[in-house]
This record gives sequence, C-alpha cells and structure tokens, in this order.
Amino acid sequence: MAKIIAINAGSSSLKFKLFEMEGEKVLAQGLFDRIGISNGTIKIKYGEKEYRKEAELKDHAVAVKRLLQLLLKLGIVQDFAEIVGVGHRVVAGGEYFKKSVAVNSRIIRRINELTEYAPIHNPANLMGIEAFRKILPNAVSVAVFDTSFHQTMPKENYVYSVPYEWYHKYGARRYGAHGTSHRYVVQVAAHMMEKPLKQLKLISCHLGAGASLCAVKNGKSFDTSMGFTPLTGITMATRSGDVDVSLISFMMQKLDMHSMPEVIYDLNKKSGLLGISGISSDMRDIEAKCKTDERAQLAINIFVKDVVKYVGAYMAEMGGLDGIIFTAGIGENSGYIREKIMKRLEFLGIEVDEKANAKRGVAEFISTPTSRVAALMIPTNEELMIARDVKTIIEAKIEKEKLAPVVIKSHSN
Ligand code: AMP
Repeated sequence: MAKIIAINAGSSSLKFKLFEMEGEKVLAQGLFDRIGISNGTIKIKYGEKEYRKEAELKDHAVAVKRLLQLLLKLGIVQDFAEIVGVGHRVVAGGEYFKKSVAVNSRIIRRINELTEYAPIHNPANLMGIEAFRKILPNAVSVAVFDTSFHQTMPKENYVYSVPYEWYHKYGARRYGAHGTSHRYVVQVAAHMMEKPLKQLKLISCHLGAGASLCAVKNGKSFDTSMGFTPLTGITMATRSGDVDVSLISFMMQKLDMHSMPEVIYDLNKKSGLLGISGISSDMRDIEAKCKTDERAQLAINIFVKDVVKYVGAYMAEMGGLDGIIFTAGIGENSGYIREKIMKRLEFLGIEVDEKANAKRGVAEFISTPTSRVAALMIPTNEELMIARDVKTIIEAKIEKEKLAPVVIKSHSN
C-alpha cells in the first residue's frame, strides 16, 4: 500500500510522520534528536508500541539511513518501494515558491539561494532532502514551504514602509511563516462551519513556542503577523514579537555589545514569555506561577493583549470576521489562555462555551451556537498537509505521464 513520509528537518533534529495515504492513517512517527551532537536519541511510535534508543547520529544522512533501516526492522514497511513520496518542510521559499513543488536539482539550487532568508533552517531542510534523495531515489521528493501560503497577500500587506528599493532590489518584505499550519486549520474550520472556505473571513491563531496570526479571506492568506523573519508579530516563547528597531542600537550601547546579531539573538532567544517573566518560556510554567508572581501575570497579559490586538486589526482589515481558530501548543492545550482571549473579544460577539473550552485533543467549537463569531480549537497537522501535497503532486505526475505522447525511440545509428 502506498506510503508517504513527511519530514521536518531542523539543524540538529529530524521529525517524521509516515502515512498510509489511503485513509490518511499514521503508521509511525518519531524524532531523531541531537544530530551532529553527541548523545543522539531516537524515538519512534508505531501503533501502540514505542522504540527508544540512544545513538550517535553523525549527520542527517546517518539519521535518515537509521530511520529507514528501523522502518524495515520494526516491520512498519516491508520494502522501501512502498514509500512513494517524501514531503519536506522548507522554511523559506521567498517569492519564488508560491506552492509546493517536486524537487529536482534546479529546485535544490533555488532553495539554497534562499538561504539568506533563513540561514539556519534552509540548509537543515536541504540536508534532509539530499539524504532522502540518495537513499530513496525512486520516491517523489516534494518541498512544502512555510511561506507559500502567504504569497497571496496583497502588496500593501507585505511591503514594508521603508525605501522601496529594499524590497525591489533585495526582497526585504514580509514573508510570514506557519503557512502549512494556517492552511490546514482553515480548511478544517470551513468543513466544521459547513461553509465554503472561499466565503469565509477567518483568523487563525497558531499559538505555540513560535506564534503567529493569519487573516484568511476567501480561502487566501490576507495578512500575517510574522515578517521578514519569524521574529515579529505577537509575543512568543522567547521571541519579542514587534519592537521598535531603534532598541537595537540603544541596547548595543547599554549592554556593551559589539555587533547587532548579539542584540537580535537576545530578541530571538531571551525575550517573549521568558524575558518578561524571568521564569520560563513555557506557558505551563507561567500559568502555574501567575497567581503569585507579578511578572508571570504580566507575561500572560501581554501575550493575551497581543493576540487581541491583532484579531482586532485583522478583522478591520478584512471588513468582518466569521471565525477565530486556536491551534498549536498553547492554542490547543490551554483553555485558560483561550478563555482570556475570547472574553476580551466578547464585544465582537464571541460567546465562550466553557464546557467545550475545557476539553482537549479533538477539533471542537468552543463558542456557543448563538455566538456571532465562531471560535474553534483545531489541532494542527502540518505533516498531514505535507503528505497531502505530496499525494497531489504524485497524482498529477501520473496523470501527466498518462497523457504524454508515447515516444518511440529510434535504434538506428
Ligand atoms: P508548539 O511549539 O506548538 O509545540 O507549542 C509548545 C508550547 O505549547 C510550549 O512551550 C508551551 O508553552 C505550550 N503548551 C503545551 N501544553 C500546554 C498546556 N497544557 N498549557 C499551556 N501551554 C501549553
């Protein structure tokens, strides 16, 4: 039976999910961690079983080799030929990649050229792509870009108010991120709301360690809170979200830092929930302390305010709102944060269904049926979206090959 594997390769990790495409059943999923570092770990869940092992994972090629060997050894696949497609998450697709594409050497070159937009992520994504292409040369390799979904934004929503040449000559603009997640949850939302996606105005709130909001109008990304990089928008686990960029030179002087990347590092790694609370980057820890710790309370207040502010802005930009979706780690698991956000949005006509909001795990309306604007909790599934894109590309390829005229090779000299 045809299987597709979705891959998310980071600089030192590789996550995977293997699907049987008929019925979109998850056969196995797992994580290869600490690649290129000592004390690597392998974790694979398959059915009710789990495989865990410590292993030296020298590089991504070794991890991929190990993964495939294990799929055979654990009896998850009987033959590599069963894996007909491999979908790879790629962080930066720039303006070039407006949708997912089958990978060939030209596409690899392009992804490489876009490395200046995602210096850590794109090279890691490419390592995953190269490793699979070597070991599974007959499987169709597909690149699925975090940025593609946002390529439909109108120009006024992605051009920064800076000298136009910055955009025109150098591509300095808003690209956004989390596109695969936003694309997935709005499709599920439309299905749940029993309306065509093309007729809806939705706001998807991907609230995880990285967090972004996306205004989706008529099925297309209309605006999104992350920018040229994932640093901007709302407060995140360790990222600052929007700040006045003049802070960079000011803080360089104050902290006696010698280069701008040092300050930008702090904005990426020491800010957000962690920076404000001084406790943790994890919302669970902050929630646990917020009753007694003023800064934990402040971190939550800022996080909630940021989401509310963007919802208000996007509703105004779209000229209305039919539904708001919560997804990712915080969005899926914290009824407390969701309720705080929804209560502040009551004036829009959102009525919280407290019983539904207390549940976890399955997609659910968390607003009452009389709510003027619907609120939904939808677990994201970027891997499934990736696998579906791979399937679509494979089917199109088969169709094209069927239609292609038969070439009769001449054997004459
Ligand atoms: P993600 O990046 O989507 O994996 O989300 C990870 C984040 O989700 C963690 O850093 C936590 O802040 C948050 N999270 C996970 N579970 C919970 C929970 N039960 N309550 C609050 N926040 C949670």
